Amino acid sequence: MIEVRNLTKTYGSTIAVDNISFDAKEGEVVGFIGPNGAGKTTAMRILTCYIGADSGTATVAGYDVFQQPLEVRRHIGYLPENAPLYTNMGVLDSLNFIAQARGIPKTERKSRIRDMIDICGLEEVVQKDISELSKGYRQRLGLAQTLIHDPEVLILDEPTSGLDPIQIIQIRKLIKEMGEKKTIILSTHILPIVEETCNRIMIISRGKLVADGAQEELTMQVQGGNVYTFTIRGPLEEIESKLNMLGFITDVESIAQDDGVCSFRVKSDEATNTEEELFRFATDNEWSLTELRRESINLEEVFLHFTLPSSEEV
Ligand code: ADP
Repeated sequence: MIEVRNLTKTYGSTIAVDNISFDAKEGEVVGFIGPNGAGKTTAMRILTCYIGADSGTATVAGYDVFQQPLEVRRHIGYLPENAPLYTNMGVLDSLNFIAQARGIPKTERKSRIRDMIDICGLEEVVQKDISELSKGYRQRLGLAQTLIHDPEVLILDEPTSGLDPIQIIQIRKLIKEMGEKKTIILSTHILPIVEETCNRIMIISRGKLVADGAQEELTMQVQGGNVYTFTIRGPLEEIESKLNMLGFITDVESIAQDDGVCSFRVKSDEATNTEEELFRFATDNEWSLTELRRESINLEEVFLHFTLPSSEEV
């Protein structure tokens, strides 16, 4: 659905987007995350044909963003950070207007607008003027405008900015539902939204794509493998040396010992069913297992790892 190769965009001496390449498949919900000024909005603006690039190529829904911008725009829904709304119009009028502009046939318009009102939860404000709407409802109306022509690709720049926690939860639910059918690129600083809705995460830092993968993959990259806390009752040195002999264990660190109970932090490679193997290891040696727990880091830690100035680019 989206193919980006070596995309670069500079503003004077600032490299806003620096040689970015990626693909996004149908049904993928991609979270674009990164510090302010990382280049997320610029990349999204290029993909939605709002601005050009200095070099590189990009196709969206099979169309070239530089050669076929009208086709690209027909197949995408773009919600910029501040949803552009005609504040002198009524909610219903504006939906009608956008439906017409999007070329939705007159016979289908009414039912499509009805769907948008339901999906985006606009029922309460449907008779109001846009100028009267709260930020949350404006954002929902923006989303309705973005979705009205049922685009295959959605590009959402900070869709929850300025919303309260309840509104954020509602938009998050909506994105999750839409993500089952569409390709979505979503930029946000609200990492729980990414954790819940995105099956893939791209971390952008200083214009570069510094990490790309599912959250578990990025976690593994940061931790250097799967990491477990493994606590058993038995002789420390023997356990440690036998653990080191297991082929799937890449690192063993003794972290505590108390009254014959020893705790280790062990790293294993990706392919092994580590829990099962460690359980067997304990029972085969007749050492009782008291704890086996996978250590996980959250997305915030992954984010910091890849974006702190000292971190190396991948
Ligand atoms: P993000 O969306 O990740 O916060 P942006 O894409 O908005 O980042 O910005 C990336 C970089 O490009 C920043 O250094 C920003 O100041 C710069 N930039 C963005 N738009 C413009 C512009 N129109 N003119 C000059 N510099 C810009």
